[in-house]
Amino acid sequence: MTGKLIVCPTPIGNMEDMTERGKRALAEADLIAAEDTRHTLGLLNHLGIKTPMISCHQHNEQERTEQILEKLREGQTVVLVSDAGTPAISDPGEILVRRCREEGILVTALPGACAFVTALSMSGMPSRRFVFEGFLPAGGKERRARLEALRAEERTVIFYEAPHHLRQTLSDLLEAFGDRRLAMGRELTKRHEEMLQMKLSEAIAHYQDQEPRGEYVLILEGADPLAREREERARWEQMTLREHMALYSALPPKEAMKQVAKDRGISKRDVYNGLLQEES
Ligand code: SAM
Repeated sequence: MTGKLIVCPTPIGNMEDMTERGKRALAEADLIAAEDTRHTLGLLNHLGIKTPMISCHQHNEQERTEQILEKLREGQTVVLVSDAGTPAISDPGEILVRRCREEGILVTALPGACAFVTALSMSGMPSRRFVFEGFLPAGGKERRARLEALRAEERTVIFYEAPHHLRQTLSDLLEAFGDRRLAMGRELTKRHEEMLQMKLSEAIAHYQDQEPRGEYVLILEGADPLAREREERARWEQMTLREHMALYSALPPKEAMKQVAKDRGISKRDVYNGLLQEES
């Protein structure tokens, strides 16, 4: 009989958010795989739990996974935790979970604290459709490419950010997306919890003379689909109909006319008449 891996969220700032199921899983497990054993020891001491721990973090997850798999193959129950929130969400865990699934080892997850879900649900930003981006790449080409890929994203976009990178990130977001609305969730579930909502330019001004403090969830409004349509229309309207038709020169003229009419939101007859007018 192989064992079981339990993915277990831990509080993101308020100890009372540790669930009853989470506490029981930690107390009854054979082993706890923790991102930082010293950090998790604080939680275990608070809960009066003495389960042994093994570290499993960003820099050793690959090799630790194999050791943890051994324990699971022996039939042990292992609980996976990170420093705060849900493991495998911008935290270690993905590799271990995948390897367990590949080996047919039972994996289950407990619901619980997760910073971006907490932030989004209290933000008032559109939450029916969203994308979670976690941390942006630290800099350079990769960061620019990620921002560029998100420019036309119409769903709400969620980022994680640390206080010492906040100012840079706000100015990169303004440059990439223009002056969109942003909600900033800070110190969530803690005594000084805050959810600020403003334009990106206002957020930059806000933090000009105020030092960013605490961990942030940034919730950015998606691209306005009508704005894109307006931009496209403006682009077509700068062209003559003949130039516009030339873009579709590979198509039969009737099809090209249909496409031009669609782009401009006018009828084929209008395109036809317009072309005649341009020629006269
Ligand atoms: N696994 C975690 C989760 O489920 O949300 C995320 C871990 S990630 C390493 C840490 C980031 O989560 C922080 O930099 C911040 O962006 C966000 N975060 C964590 N706790 C938070 C809190 N109490 N308030 C706001 N953001 C928080």
